[in-house]
Amino acid sequence: MKRALYIAFDQLHRGYGVLKAADKSSDLIVLVESQSMIAGAHWHPERLFFLISSARHFAAELRAEGFEVRYLKAENTVAGLQEIRDEFPKIEFLAAEQSSYRLSKSLNNFGVTFIENDFFLTPRSLFISWASSQKSYLMENFYRKQRVRLNVLMEGEAPIGGQWNYDKDNRLPPPKNYTWPPYLEHQRDAIDLEVAAELKMEATTLWATTRAGALAQLKYFIENHFEKFGPYEDAMALDSWSLHHSVISPYINNGLLHPSEVIEAACASFYKGTVPIESAEGFVRQVIGWREYINGMYWFLGEDYRDNNQLGANRPLLPLFTDPSKTQMNCVKSIVEDVKARSWVHHIPRLMVLSNLALITGTNPQQFLDWMRREFIDASDWVMVPNVIGMGVHADGGQMMSKPYAAGGAYISRMSNYCKGCSYNPKLRVGDDACPFTTLYWDFLDRHKETFAKNHRMGQQVNGLKRLSDLDELKHRAQEVLSGLEKGEI
Ligand SMILES: Cc1cc2nc3c(=O)[nH]c(=O)nc-3n(C[C@H](O)[C@H](O)[C@H](O)COP(=O)(O)OP(=O)(O)OC[C@H]3O[C@@H](n4cnc5c(N)ncnc54)[C@H](O)[C@@H]3O)c2cc1C
Ligand code: SF4
Repeated sequence: MKRALYIAFDQLHRGYGVLKAADKSSDLIVLVESQSMIAGAHWHPERLFFLISSARHFAAELRAEGFEVRYLKAENTVAGLQEIRDEFPKIEFLAAEQSSYRLSKSLNNFGVTFIENDFFLTPRSLFISWASSQKSYLMENFYRKQRVRLNVLMEGEAPIGGQWNYDKDNRLPPPKNYTWPPYLEHQRDAIDLEVAAELKMEATTLWATTRAGALAQLKYFIENHFEKFGPYEDAMALDSWSLHHSVISPYINNGLLHPSEVIEAACASFYKGTVPIESAEGFVRQVIGWREYINGMYWFLGEDYRDNNQLGANRPLLPLFTDPSKTQMNCVKSIVEDVKARSWVHHIPRLMVLSNLALITGTNPQQFLDWMRREFIDASDWVMVPNVIGMGVHADGGQMMSKPYAAGGAYISRMSNYCKGCSYNPKLRVGDDACPFTTLYWDFLDRHKETFAKNHRMGQQVNGLKRLSDLDELKHRAQEVLSGLEKGEI
């Protein structure tokens, strides 16, 4: 064997990375199940199950295709590669660029040669040259360039439909008396059952662990959800855990799907005429815009970016994040229960409920980031760090997003049906029944008013403080709420 091709657990695609030019006669394929990674944190079981079972299925598929494959269980990735070097002292190690600073460094030190990471649509160097030319890193500007460069939903030089952005049409609350299509279930095979037994868990039918399953999920989304994706993109509903979202993030992130396949399928469906432009554009924006932007920013902002805490937020992680019985807030309780059940909730619960709560309670950004990393099935460093530190809790002082996504109960009440069954009232900011989000939103603005006064996009919100005749009472209630949250009593 001349070359060892290392396949990371987030590069499971036959047509990309080092596999696209693999040679069965001279290449050894290597995958490493890092035991220190598995034991290193209290990971959500669905997450471990999904990552390990997908990798074992992928190794089995490559073997069936005629490749020589080593699937190693080793202390860590480098220890696994060392086993290969011990066996083949002259072998050359090759991999696609890794998705985290940590693995890039350790593989580089080991002597692995990298080829460009083509699991994204935007080479890192291209993003860095775009970002270096910007004063502020507005996703919208990047996205428009992507539409043109990748020629997606374009009519010559103009966007199809005449507008770049249909966000204003895509903010409907959950519809009343509505039946959401059932969720696609994924049947289990012997490999799944073996992994589940090793992890001492019951295998659920929630997540696909093969390329065939991931493709089935994409098809199911296109046929059953895509049409209504746009209008209900921001809604949160008690009677549906995924609404009309695609639920494909785990698969694009571990390689079972490539973003170009997702975009091709979405555009083909749009051109058939069954999907309105609001939904098509809204979805394309997520995949060629947000996803690529977040990955680009991870590499552009550098390794230390994750340590930012520019709002000086030092509250330890609240108990409700690990135990939803520790809160009476209906929105938070339901969403944390959903995370526990499936290791996934969609974008708005992540941003406007979980991160918003961490932001306005002044929770330590790194503790919150670690919790999100452990709990979510689609989490990796490249995607969690900018989404949490930049977008979620504004810990970077506005480097990525020009203003924090802080909101009171009125937003959650408008976009969901959580508030009806809640012990609190989203309209109230003081008193025992006041919604903790509403109280803490104003308290957060007050605590940071000097910082935000310098931000022209926050001026209106900060000025709103002047209209509050009960600010002292509100600040008192905010202290009660914060100490109640710490004790798990709110
Ligand atoms: C605080 C916070 C943490 C997040 N953490 C993750 C994470 O760990 N992994 C992850 O994949 N996404 C993350 N996201 C982005 C987004 O919430 C998920 O990608 C989305 O909910 C996945 O569900 P879906 O596949 O149904 O997405 P859809 O709503 O159907 O969107 C389609 C695809 O667009 C991509 N996408 C959309 N927004 C983003 C974004 N901000 N960043 C990256 N990709 C995006 C995803 O690949 C997604 O599958 C996070 C967002 C926030 C606010
Ligand atoms: S009232 Fe407040 S805490 Fe209760 S569900 Fe609504 S937003 Fe959440």
